[in-house]
Amino acid sequence: MSAGQPGWEPPAYTKLSYEMFLYSMGAELEEAESFDAWIEDVKSDGAFAFEAARQHSQRTDITIERETGERLELLNFSAYNYLGYSHHPEVISAAKDALDRYGLGASSSPVHGGTFELHKELEAELVRFVGVEGNGVSLFSSGYAVNTGTISAVVKRGHYIVADRNAHMSILEGAQLSGAKVLYFRHNDVEHLQEVLAGIDEWGARILVCVEGVYSADGDMAPLRRIVDVAKKHEAMVLVDEAHSFLVAGEGGRGVCEIEGVLDEVDLLVTTFSKGFGGVGGALIAKKHITRYVNWFAKCRMFSCAIDPAVTGGVLKALQLAGAPEGAALRRRIVANADYLRSRLAGHVDIGDSTSWIVPVTFGRDDYAIPVFDYLQNHGLEGSIMMFPAVPKNEARIRLFVTSGHTREQLDRCADIVLEAAQRFGFGVGA
Ligand code: PMP
Repeated sequence: MSAGQPGWEPPAYTKLSYEMFLYSMGAELEEAESFDAWIEDVKSDGAFAFEAARQHSQRTDITIERETGERLELLNFSAYNYLGYSHHPEVISAAKDALDRYGLGASSSPVHGGTFELHKELEAELVRFVGVEGNGVSLFSSGYAVNTGTISAVVKRGHYIVADRNAHMSILEGAQLSGAKVLYFRHNDVEHLQEVLAGIDEWGARILVCVEGVYSADGDMAPLRRIVDVAKKHEAMVLVDEAHSFLVAGEGGRGVCEIEGVLDEVDLLVTTFSKGFGGVGGALIAKKHITRYVNWFAKCRMFSCAIDPAVTGGVLKALQLAGAPEGAALRRRIVANADYLRSRLAGHVDIGDSTSWIVPVTFGRDDYAIPVFDYLQNHGLEGSIMMFPAVPKNEARIRLFVTSGHTREQLDRCADIVLEAAQRFGFGVGA
């Protein structure tokens, strides 16, 4: 019977390539299966640490629904909606206007047909907000992409990246993608940074120092004045990821760079729109010739759809509000709230060196992470769980994201629940 005639079946060998592909995936499939079994185990134990669905916006009190259908009313300390802009009426209204005018998606890469007038307005407003002469902006569809795209565009094989040991995964992945040699210095240790830089004795090597404004896992701030001084001494460029600090830190909301007086000395200023702005997406702010280059050479920007118009409109409004007196009031509020929560917890549990709105409560043991999270959830508090590999082994913690919207009563309730958990699980200081 010839091929294609009625009753003919393709011979077995035609399936071989697919099966070979599956066999070669054996290890990955096994890993996926064992991960799946672990998640099912976690759930069957009654714990719902991951992906519990929220019923509404990221307010300070939320209702979540577990997969069992059970609903819980919780205090929300798990969202980095720091200034409440994700549900601010003016932000929502600006997003709705943009949705009506421009539609749902950008439908193209920003370098082709995906750039709208709103994107241009947002770029101009960001440059105005930062206030450094000669700056440009490169917009990305996530904060993660800003780091991976920018770092892999600016730094290449044969160059050096010197990163803080606690830098975010997106910085590390960008560094790996770049093909550069990656060196680390101890967290916030400027003397060690100086040592690492002094050890690079390759003439003309491009060096990029990568740090964060506020560290996402620790809630402490980088000593940027000293970091920039040391970097410049060694002719290194500096990237500061202000994901958790842009709009929030500093009198004017220009981040830790503003507090430390280095706004016009930092080469690559990174922000995300998912935190202070309450949206999604992100931006690189740098000298125009750099942002122009990054626009074309960051592959995850060039080959990915532009930020959708509604979010762009909302983010632009959040930026305008943050630059107005209302923004300054919200910043004072979040600082006071975080100080108050820390004052309730310090000396009783380990909150490390946090000086910001991220207050990590470290209890150490990875095998306690889910039970502690579950205890907090069952007692009315939703925090953000962190364990290996997001942080080093047995440095598990619950991160509490304080916002300007939390009331004194909510902060007190949060502290009470955490302190009860510390007693129950024995992670109180000196326990
Ligand atoms: N940088 C830091 C320091 C972060 O903490 C995060 C995310 N939490 C990102 C970048 C990535 O930002 P996004 O979630 O907006 O992609």
